[in-house]
Amino acid sequence: MKKISEDAGKRARALAASVKELGEGLLGKLLEGNSLGRDLEPGAIERLLAANPEGPGLEDCARCGSCKARCPVYELTGNEAFSPRGRLMLLRGLARGDAQPTEGLLGRIFSCTLCGRCDVSCPVGIRPTTSIYRARDVLRKLDSRRLLTRTALRAGLSRPAMGMSAARFITGLKHNILKKLAPRFPEGLRLPARQLKSGHQVITPRKAVGRVAVFAGCSANYLMPETGEDLIGMLVAAGYEVVLPGGEVCCGMPLRGLGLEGEARKSAVKNLEIFGKLNVEAVVSPCSTCVYMIKKRYPELAGGCVENAVDAAEFLLFPGRLKLEPEAGVRLVWHEPCHLKYGLGSSAEPFLRLLNIERPEEEGCCGFGSFLTDKEISRELLSKRVKAYEGAGVVVTSCPGCRIQLESAGIKTAHILEIVEKAIPAAGSNEKMAG
Ligand code: SF4
Ligand code: SF4
Repeated sequence: MKKISEDAGKRARALAASVKELGEGLLGKLLEGNSLGRDLEPGAIERLLAANPEGPGLEDCARCGSCKARCPVYELTGNEAFSPRGRLMLLRGLARGDAQPTEGLLGRIFSCTLCGRCDVSCPVGIRPTTSIYRARDVLRKLDSRRLLTRTALRAGLSRPAMGMSAARFITGLKHNILKKLAPRFPEGLRLPARQLKSGHQVITPRKAVGRVAVFAGCSANYLMPETGEDLIGMLVAAGYEVVLPGGEVCCGMPLRGLGLEGEARKSAVKNLEIFGKLNVEAVVSPCSTCVYMIKKRYPELAGGCVENAVDAAEFLLFPGRLKLEPEAGVRLVWHEPCHLKYGLGSSAEPFLRLLNIERPEEEGCCGFGSFLTDKEISRELLSKRVKAYEGAGVVVTSCPGCRIQLESAGIKTAHILEIVEKAIPAAGSNEKMAG
């Protein structure tokens, strides 16, 4: 018995030594790129390593590599430094002074799409994205490459109506230095001249069965107001009193993705003040990413969340809420938003069956998550989707961001709410949005 335990002890020590060696060797390989010639600001390392309220953090990584298997950027590049494990090792090296904040290190941290697939793969319970968000915040001031995008986004989201006017003006220009300097918009992005109705409103059905609020999100507010209107119309048709509380701001996801943690926190606090206190059955949103953010990621940002937030399709397609009669027609193919599946842990299966939507043979991340931070990775991930969706009549999804990304490659898309709307018998008789 003693012999067996001695052997097991030896094996464990050998394994630990080889993992350590692998780690040290890997760190050397992972570190590429020129030094930025600037140091991290005081307190940066403490912020990076701060205790993680949700569980284990950066220092607890056992380097097992399970998280790599699902990472779309690792799959694309085949490079350890672009995997969740590699990124965590780089950050640990940075925290311990073994790595410097080089251009290469920043590139690896900002190439992540923040899809969250790694967060559900770790046997230790680490959410690598928490460290990646923190690292982006900590590295932000050294990151001149994304400075313009960051500045434009911060300005645009602080006054979205003005931001939209500026965006319309810039996209309307032909050849102009301003257009060259301005952060690029996705190809073919429509910038409507109107927005979803703003200000506090309550829309009441003839006979109410319940009361819900709508968190429209920036896309449905400013880029696809028709999606927000479809949602409100269908909620009313299903018998719900709909509250638009007014004062909603960006969920904070794009801000946080660019390292603007402080601004994202302010957004979270503001939205929590508005949506956290409403006396409603659910806060329904047509954007899976917004739901993921306000429900699952607000706790680490603002210490609370919109507990009853729910994805619009999941809410409306709950058995018995709406009578549907989908018609056979064009071939509908599903694009699963990463934040719906991995972030919210929701299964689209029941509503895909209900609406005759097929799953493609090969699924994956569309790359929208790195559109603002690493265009090359974003574009390469998108090309994989283009191949996977060949032959589809319309690609259906529940995330406006994924739609924007897919349409930029010429793919015809629809929000799932459009498909639901069409499947409601006598859809024209839905109660319309009241003023
Ligand atoms: S969030 Fe997605 S892209 Fe980023 S490390 Fe995790 S799996 Fe990879
Ligand atoms: S799965 Fe978890 S423990 Fe394993 S390498 Fe990834 S983060 Fe580290």
